[in-house]
Amino acid sequence: MNIHEYQAKELLAKFGVACPAGIAALSVEEAVAAAKQLPGPLYVVKSQIHAGGRGKGKFKELGPDAKGGVRLAFNLDEVESHAKEMLGNTLVTIQTGPEGKQVNRLYITDGADIKQEFYLALLVDRATSRIAIVASTEGGMNIEDVAHDSPEKIHTIVVDPATGLQPHHGRSVAKALGLTGDLAKQAQTVVAGLYAAFLGTDAEQIEINPLAVCEGKNGDELLVLDAKVAFDGNAMFRHKDLAELRDLTEEDPAEVEASEYDLAYIKLDGNIGCMVNGAGLAMATMDIIKLNGEFPANFLDVGGGASKEKVTAAFKIILKDPAVKGILVNIFGGIMKCDIIADGIVAAAKEVNLSVPLVVRLEGTNVQQGKDILANSGLPIVSANDLGDAAAKIVAEVRKAA
Ligand code: ADP
Ligand code: MG
Repeated sequence: MNIHEYQAKELLAKFGVACPAGIAALSVEEAVAAAKQLPGPLYVVKSQIHAGGRGKGKFKELGPDAKGGVRLAFNLDEVESHAKEMLGNTLVTIQTGPEGKQVNRLYITDGADIKQEFYLALLVDRATSRIAIVASTEGGMNIEDVAHDSPEKIHTIVVDPATGLQPHHGRSVAKALGLTGDLAKQAQTVVAGLYAAFLGTDAEQIEINPLAVCEGKNGDELLVLDAKVAFDGNAMFRHKDLAELRDLTEEDPAEVEASEYDLAYIKLDGNIGCMVNGAGLAMATMDIIKLNGEFPANFLDVGGGASKEKVTAAFKIILKDPAVKGILVNIFGGIMKCDIIADGIVAAAKEVNLSVPLVVRLEGTNVQQGKDILANSGLPIVSANDLGDAAAKIVAEVRKAA
């Protein structure tokens, strides 16, 4: 689960991580009022969308010469004019895809006098099953490019869960960033705060890009200028307060609806809708569709208990995508028996008035009874014997209908 930058910074501040002061705003008036509460004279007006690369992004409505989604403002009038240009418009960045994302919220923050920018992230390293701290002097840039062009500039420090974060981890980060003296101490404080936040929120990723050395009144300060925080969705039941930070307008509506039915659905670009039980089988189903020359329209795992209600909801969600020209149901009747599943499929297909070809592959307990139910349903359901057969049949059906 992702959250906005302003939410991430409010959260990190609670863990003692230094961020510039800022206030979120939903309208031009709120943006100006927010700026008035900040010391000034330099402000930054930041588009709040769940995507990075905002600074270099472009607003669809404003043309290629307009400024991006993160802008400096040197007075209140500029805050106002930036807010007017950003709110309601569509920001396209390298992470949004060409359709972009509508900016409905801004974050008005103190402008910092930046001397140097770094990259610092905490994430779960699947290879070592540990939390890894990734630090680089190449901040403010696309870290994938740094990893590609100059991998030696990326330092990875792995934390042993048995000991937790130790002072030497913080010192290693400071060294990797070339910091000494008071700034090195500040780096250690930042790392300790981020690590505590990571554990305390069951985070999946905390990415600070940039972490910046800024000129402060009392010497140089290390500040978090951008923060991306993602939580482990499976742990949200332990964090009711964090779950409230979810912004559904940032998520695909079909995916939101699917999550209400406890269906794991991810929209893809193809034309064959898939309904499968089990994530591994769903992946294999998508692969074999591709192997047969067409593309899956979605990933959908209905889970172990594929009830009629769930199957109906799944059909409805799949059919909302106008690109879907056929559906492949691939269900293994292990927890649920195949005849029960077949009943559910027939009832659901009738309820949604299914208008695209449907191929069903059932396997498992009571498979013959299940196939009989499909055959006697009076619906044009095509039965398949195995995964290869199913994929070939749905591809043929879709091409026939085209
Ligand atoms: P994104 O990564 O989405 O482009 P950032 O928040 O990283 O957005 O902003 C882009 C750039 O804008 C940063 O690399 C930094 O140089 C500058 N910037 C961001 N916040 C501030 C700030 N509070 N003061 C001064 N400059 C900032
Ligand atoms: Mg950034």
